[in-house]
Amino acid sequence: MHKGLPTLPLPRDRLRKGPLAVEADLKVADDLGAVGFELHGTPRVSITAEESQGGRVLISGTMTVRLAEVCSRCLKVVDREHSIPLDFQFEPGLDPWDEAPGVYALDGNQDEMDAGPALREELLLALPEYPLCRSECRGLCPRCGADLNEGDCDCEEGTGDPRWDALRTRLASDGFAANDDERQDG
Ligand SMILES: [Zn+2]
Ligand SMILES: [Zn+2]
Repeated sequence: MHKGLPTLPLPRDRLRKGPLAVEADLKVADDLGAVGFELHGTPRVSITAEESQGGRVLISGTMTVRLAEVCSRCLKVVDREHSIPLDFQFEPGLDPWDEAPGVYALDGNQDEMDAGPALREELLLALPEYPLCRSECRGLCPRCGADLNEGDCDCEEGTGDPRWDALRTRLASDGFAANDDERQDG
């Protein structure tokens, strides 16, 4: 279910008077729109917003978020808390099409700016590309699917690419011995 983008309004006239510290929950859709991740609870942001000369608004601070992530090797779901450092800015007059990680467009005509969508973007950027349950995760056996973290499976090691199994079986039944040791996998 799409719940729309989160909002975190920051009043511009208040920003002009000096740095503004904000602690807030960021209401983001639970699935984040990112495959392999699910939010547990609501992300908490603790930021300082500061308007610089020239009208740029600098945001710094941290976002704390609890996520269920699917290990990219063994597919186990791990529950983990991340503390994401935040350091990005809003640039007045920037064309939204020219936004880049860390630099967002700021509509100079509005009394209130919204840091919510940018915070969601920063959260997505901080997600690991290949989450792991632990760095030494052994993953699943590519042949039988057994979780190798729980022990070795019965598949012989070094039997090579399972896509060759049919051919290997036929060669064996024809009286040939498939020699795995000499094959170099690509
Ligand atoms: Zn794993
Ligand atoms: Zn196996």
